[in-house]
Amino acid sequence: MSPERLLSVEEARDTVLAGAGGPLEAECLALDEALGRVAAEPVRARISLPPWPNSAMDGYAIIAADVAGATESAPVRLSVTGETAAGGEGTAPVQHGVAVRIATGAPLPDGADAIVQVELTTPIAADGTAGPRARDAAGPIPAACLVHAPVLAGAHVRARASDVSAGDVILPTGHVVTPSAIALAAGTGVVEVRAWRRPRVAILATGDEIRGPGEPIGPTGIPDANGPGLAALVHADGFVVIRLGIARDRLDDVVERLRAGIAGADAVVVSGGVSVGPYDAVRAAFAAVGDVQLWRVAVQPGKPFAFGMASTRTPGGRRVPLFGLPGNPVSTFVTYELFVRPALRALAGHADLLRPVEAAVIEETARTSRGRRAYLRAVVVRDAAGAPARDASGRLLVRLAGGQGSHVLSALARADGLAIVAAEVEEVVPGDPVGFCWTTDRGG
Ligand code: AMP
Ligand code: MG
Repeated sequence: MSPERLLSVEEARDTVLAGAGGPLEAECLALDEALGRVAAEPVRARISLPPWPNSAMDGYAIIAADVAGATESAPVRLSVTGETAAGGEGTAPVQHGVAVRIATGAPLPDGADAIVQVELTTPIAADGTAGPRARDAAGPIPAACLVHAPVLAGAHVRARASDVSAGDVILPTGHVVTPSAIALAAGTGVVEVRAWRRPRVAILATGDEIRGPGEPIGPTGIPDANGPGLAALVHADGFVVIRLGIARDRLDDVVERLRAGIAGADAVVVSGGVSVGPYDAVRAAFAAVGDVQLWRVAVQPGKPFAFGMASTRTPGGRRVPLFGLPGNPVSTFVTYELFVRPALRALAGHADLLRPVEAAVIEETARTSRGRRAYLRAVVVRDAAGAPARDASGRLLVRLAGGQGSHVLSALARADGLAIVAAEVEEVVPGDPVGFCWTTDRGG
């Protein structure tokens, strides 16, 4: 591929995804260990839910037809023959004229077709004394009860399998195991799931000026923002972080650390050193351990971007993708979003690789480079309640998060997401349509 030609974001991403491949191997996990993992095969309910019909109320299991004529002043009297509690033994079947006291979650006795809630009843003791109305299920079982209102057949009965049927897919392949998915799986008798292995992602910062945490910066150093930032992105996206430290701008140092990454990780992400400056060693280092597939993308920020594949294979027979991101921290974040995150999600087995882009309107002027799609750091305008504001057509209203230089970390940190401006546009003015993609969870 000619190094002079600028690739579109989509061309670059397609090339990255085709090279990086995925997903990794599947493994079997106890449900407790599966949070955040991606299902490698459909998870199916082992039992129906509910497994048997049960009561949604405290009250009496009855035959609805028996109380069809019941009113407040002319209640129907039913004799109470027993009680059924959650987890308790069953009772004799309910026949006409009979009620069985029942607790929420207790199995519906045979013969009954409805529950009348305790509030609509008055208990009658063996000696004939009535009341109090709606006495709760904690008291002694009454000899009889008065039902003061009709109920429909099926009222307050949770039918067998009304929630889930045994064999139903409760989590499709490629979907994330969330807390609610764990509750659903556990609740339908599932004890383990097959999930893809989590990608291990090695992170390397480069630059003679870059200093580790707490190190004195001296007259020309700067603290490493990209190593910690990328590690946090990788971690927040559900992958395992391997830190390769900070390499000097020297081919041998970068190559040595790359080799360590290739040996222990499923992907390597490098920041800095991918431009064409005299000290930019990363592309040459990729070439030394594998190949460099592309390196210029029509995107702002983040134009110099390198993608390679290590030539050695992992024990699993895979080649490790190598990402070389531009060193300006905003460019690092944006190119991670555009290219690295989708590729890592593919390795992790996610069905959806990209964040959704929604229609938005920008409320201020911004100049962008012609010929490169711009990803502006943007904040979403809020209404009085703090919710994202939208115009009459439902489009989000967005503003710039601050300076748009690719070194401006404060605007990156302030941003809710990225406002997307088409490559052919040179300037957006208030009211212009843009795309918007949340990169934080501040949308709720
Ligand atoms: P480079 O891509 O190496 O040419 O770096 C571009 C700019 O990003 C320079 O101003 C670097 O100092 C800065 N930079 C590179 N790596 C980092 C890093 N890890 N943390 C903070 N800034 C960085
Ligand atoms: Mg550098």
